[in-house]
Amino acid sequence: MNNQSWLSRSRQAVWHPCTQMKLHESLPIVPIARGEGIWLYDFEGKRYLDGVSSWWVNLFGHCNPVIGDALKQQLDTLEHVILAGFTQQPVIELSERLAALTGLGHAFYGSDGASATEIALKMSFHYWRNTGRAEKCEFVSLENSYHGETIGALSVTDVPLFRDTYAPLLRHSHRVPSPDPRLARPDETAEQYAARTLVSLETLLADHGQRIAALIVEPLVQCAAGMAIYPASWLKQAAALCEKYQVHLIADEIAVGFGRTGSMFAHQQAQIRPDFICLSKGITGGYLPLAAVLTTNKVYEAFYDDHIGRGFLHSHSYTGNALACRAALTVLDIFEHDQVLAVNESKTTRFNLLAAPLAQHSRVHNFRNIGMIWAFEVDSAGPGFSQRCFSAALARGLLLRPIGNTVYLMPPYVIDDAGFGLFVEVMLSLLDSAEFAPVASAEK
Ligand SMILES: *Cc1c(COP(=O)(O)O)cnc(C)c1O
Repeated sequence: MNNQSWLSRSRQAVWHPCTQMKLHESLPIVPIARGEGIWLYDFEGKRYLDGVSSWWVNLFGHCNPVIGDALKQQLDTLEHVILAGFTQQPVIELSERLAALTGLGHAFYGSDGASATEIALKMSFHYWRNTGRAEKCEFVSLENSYHGETIGALSVTDVPLFRDTYAPLLRHSHRVPSPDPRLARPDETAEQYAARTLVSLETLLADHGQRIAALIVEPLVQCAAGMAIYPASWLKQAAALCEKYQVHLIADEIAVGFGRTGSMFAHQQAQIRPDFICLSKGITGGYLPLAAVLTTNKVYEAFYDDHIGRGFLHSHSYTGNALACRAALTVLDIFEHDQVLAVNESKTTRFNLLAAPLAQHSRVHNFRNIGMIWAFEVDSAGPGFSQRCFSAALARGLLLRPIGNTVYLMPPYVIDDAGFGLFVEVMLSLLDSAEFAPVASAEK
């Protein structure tokens, strides 16, 4: 079977996510036959560099032999067992290691990012209820925030395209200005702007803190907002405000956890301890769906009681799946064994030198990097830029999914200089091509 026959079958049988299916009348679906390292191969042998880590989940490449071998062993030992009333080695070891890495124990497991958000919101509210403050039932998130798309998670998500249609179904929640430096006035530094946005947060917490259970944030980078990288100082001060007004801080590390921003977890760069940490995406290296919510002893103890209803009676069928936990343990082994954070740091330094011609290109704005994320805005990009850029890059062997006129690279950590060089080369050739000539009224 060739590419063409797979893609027409997929169009008929599969309802693809985050997609207007009619678009696929003109935009082909890309059938992938196999993966190896940073590369994905179609059925005709053409390869694509996975510049989005398969939706921000892959860390150590496709078909990584170390993770593959660990999973094969686990498959022959125990694939899954109910976690209510039963336990198993991978889930215990993973919980212990996550606690050691974060200082927060009591890992509660879910199936994906959105379920982690749901768990953290419910747990925060239930904590306040168990401690006699049931009126604390409201949540705060940032403008342009993204925390998943189930109804609870969408209530604290602020991406209009995902949210507006379902607005009548959602709970009201508070929104405060994002510290995204792209929103700063020309006369302000990123830090000055971030400090200014904290005034709105403090006003809200001072006025409504009595009714607010938690503030949920994406530490350091609002990825879905177009890789908005903001100063750690904002996070540090927001954490202090939460403490002051007795509001929980939920760190949604689903996209930025596991080394993506240079530290194991992004919030660590602000030297804070959140009340909840949501983990998913990279946790299994992109192998299997898994999420974990970590919390403090204080929260855990507020549920520990003779009364059943004071317990956290939330569950997902695949909670703590043994295979997924084995993949996650292997990911942590690789971090230790291969000194991934240190290796990534030196890669980042080298890649930024390679990126200089792109960073200096006249149509490239806000060129930015944190850890293993690079992003920039394209000036005068014109209508439909993200779609056109996706197609043109793909034709040149590079998988990118621009957000509006923001182009970003979020590669598996195993990318090498040649792989990064391809990104730079492809983007330079696109920006200088007639097809991408500047368009007077830029699409925002
Ligand atoms: C992707 C993402 C989610 C949702 O995770 P899913 O697994 O897609 O449900 C939540 N928060 C952040 C910050 C994310 O990037």
